[in-house]
Amino acid sequence: MYMQEILDEIVATIGQSDDRGQVANYIPQLACIDPNQFAISVAMADGRVFHAGLSDTLFSIQSISKMFTLTIALGKLGDAVWNKVGREPSGDPFNSIVQLEHENGKPRNPFINAGAIAIADAIMMGHQPKETLAEILNFVRFLAEDDSISIDETVAQSELKTGDRNASLAHFMASFGHINHPVDHVLGTYFHHCSIAMNCQQLAKAGLFLVADGMDPVSKKRVVSSQRARRINSLMLMCGHYDGSGEFAFRVGLPGKSGVGGGILAIAPGKASIAVWSPGLDEVGNSKLGTQALEKLVQQTGWSIFGH
Ligand code: GLU
Repeated sequence: MYMQEILDEIVATIGQSDDRGQVANYIPQLACIDPNQFAISVAMADGRVFHAGLSDTLFSIQSISKMFTLTIALGKLGDAVWNKVGREPSGDPFNSIVQLEHENGKPRNPFINAGAIAIADAIMMGHQPKETLAEILNFVRFLAEDDSISIDETVAQSELKTGDRNASLAHFMASFGHINHPVDHVLGTYFHHCSIAMNCQQLAKAGLFLVADGMDPVSKKRVVSSQRARRINSLMLMCGHYDGSGEFAFRVGLPGKSGVGGGILAIAPGKASIAVWSPGLDEVGNSKLGTQALEKLVQQTGWSIFGH
């Protein structure tokens, strides 16, 4: 079966499901998104791209941005990143504070909220939030080859107003000396990078460097070393879906990063970068239909990293 047929079938079946999960309701601006939307894009290592559904509709990438900020932090700090965050799956919800108390305020990995807040702090390196955000945005635009990508300020303000839990995480880490900038600056940076709006076409393109050992296989731009690409993929596999990471590896078998906006970026090494979006979430905050779509795609293509 050809890729376009596979995607069209996914949109016609899974994309039409009545059991779509719940949109994130703790961020008011996300709570008003229509759950009856679905999109998928596949950017292949050989340069071909396939799309189905609403693949040019923008959505809030939320925690998918944490893959981009981790990549930037590794570029700036190298292995010193691992002094700030660990690299073990958390097994706790994405916004949990419990583990921080057990490990002296050091987040278990860069993809839970606490870890991503610590990474935002690391990237700032004495800069103002605006400068840091410009750097993050430029990196994403460079990867996606699209200068129109921007931050949805309404979502960012919505998160700021309701971000008590994230503020608690940041202050708690600061109490252990893990935050080096004013907490409100770090939180502002974090909320804004979570509020980057992208569509599936842009997101699939932006993930391509992780498909081919750190180099965009189409533009031939080297983004990171092959070792770094491998390590980012391994972190996405282990920690990219919060306390649903084991389930995602079991069902899909690809490194992936989800966001509470309903997007998932998944990487089939050597094959393709896949972006899928459906706003309804499962119990642990991962896109319900997005996961099902990836499960189906992998069954049909044999792309699981664990074998056919
Ligand atoms: N900005 C969201 C938060 O901090 C990100 C959560 C997510 O996408 O998992 O709650």
